[in-house]
Amino acid sequence: MTTLPAKPHSTTENRAERYRIRFDKRAHAAKCAQIAGACRLVWNILLADCERRYRLSRELGIDDNGGHPIDKSVSFFTLGKRFTDLRSRSDAAWVRDFMDSPQGKRYRDMDLSWLRDMPYAPLRYTAKYLADAYTRFFKVWAEAKSEGTPLGRRQSDGKPKGFPKYRKKFDRDDGFAIPGDVRMDGDRMHIPKVGWVRLEGSGLYRGCKPKQVRIRKEGTEDRPKWYAYVFYEVPPDHLKQPAWTGAIGLDRNVGQATDSDGEVYETPDDPQLEGKIKRKERKKAKSLARSKANGKPVSNRGRRIGGQLKKLKRKQKRRRENAAHQHSRKMADTAHTVVIEDLDIKDMTKSAKGTVEEPGKNVKQKAGLNREILKSNWGRTERMLDYKAGQVLKVPPAYTSQTCAACGHVGKENRKTQAHFRCTACGHTANADRNAAQNILEQGLALLPKARGNGASARREALDPCLLPGATGKSTSMTREQGMLATLEPPGSGA
Ligand SMILES: [Zn+2]
Repeated sequence: MTTLPAKPHSTTENRAERYRIRFDKRAHAAKCAQIAGACRLVWNILLADCERRYRLSRELGIDDNGGHPIDKSVSFFTLGKRFTDLRSRSDAAWVRDFMDSPQGKRYRDMDLSWLRDMPYAPLRYTAKYLADAYTRFFKVWAEAKSEGTPLGRRQSDGKPKGFPKYRKKFDRDDGFAIPGDVRMDGDRMHIPKVGWVRLEGSGLYRGCKPKQVRIRKEGTEDRPKWYAYVFYEVPPDHLKQPAWTGAIGLDRNVGQATDSDGEVYETPDDPQLEGKIKRKERKKAKSLARSKANGKPVSNRGRRIGGQLKKLKRKQKRRRENAAHQHSRKMADTAHTVVIEDLDIKDMTKSAKGTVEEPGKNVKQKAGLNREILKSNWGRTERMLDYKAGQVLKVPPAYTSQTCAACGHVGKENRKTQAHFRCTACGHTANADRNAAQNILEQGLALLPKARGNGASARREALDPCLLPGATGKSTSMTREQGMLATLEPPGSGA
């Protein structure tokens, strides 16, 4: 039986879209800022209480708090319950214990009754984010422990690296989530305790079921801009489908990637913007150092610089994200199957050291270069390919740049220069990146299950659903290379 690739996007999938929020009244924006501030407070209190419980259990033992067991759990369920206590049962035993503890000192004289005027679900969802932050930390911690490399301490507060941080007002972009029961009506959305606001955006998934919304304040402090990231449940008929057939290999390098058809995808590079970001970073560091030396909060100017820096970084991120979207879309439109090298962080750092058993990994596997590749957009593009393309195959990165795509001869001397490939056995010449991409494609195709007949044609069949109108059997008479180009071209791609 021939194994066909699963028909793509046959089930409902989650997709996100970003909208600019337009408020009818200025008071609505102020209320949103208040909710975001309340979420920050809830985060900080819950985190401080978790730390208190941790300290107590270290000092007293888990079951020895005057007969009361100490609940150290940091699950969403438990943290959510604690939030409910905080909001409505200020006489709860643990709340009083917390307020009397050194960790709760800051909050002792604070009137928390105003939390009741804030929407319940968004505030409670802060507990989910905190629980997630703990989960991430525990994972990193456990990995470091199993590898015998301690995490090290953070300079700012002496806590282990990766441990959840207290939130400060101007540290990061403020926001909150509407975790469920999202009400939308055309281009309008309802924010609990705020009211209806207008959303501005492409509305690609308008009409689909919104599952969750994250609301964020971006822009600068003087000119805040609010955005809604709406997560939709999108049925298959609303999803853009990937190409039905075809396969390409992709060779990823610093600054650009090349596919096996010779198409080059360049990552956006803006030295001017990078220079600006570096200058702002220096200014921000100076102002932070000054405030620390004087023991005063960061100056207004320092805060303004922080806001400008965030704005520039967002611009850079948007630009990279946009390129990743365009590249992954183009690849998914070109071919059903995309084969890439498995550039795993751990493998790369291992091979950077170099092993005698695994030679030939010396071109792409140098640590510095690897880091550059990681920094490039390819991780992001890969994640997008995962949901846009029909299927993504990963192959080990060894030898791909030294192998001749025409005859299979492997040798360092094949690659004359960074850009040029010339086989010393058969004389085949090609662009080095494209040659590598073709090797990657070849390796990927070898992973596909063998159907009947000899490898190549059967594999090609496996790639080709044959159900398409216009799909014919003529490919079998062609050579592999021609077949690849002729029959694996998706119908109507025009590329
Ligand atoms: Zn050759």
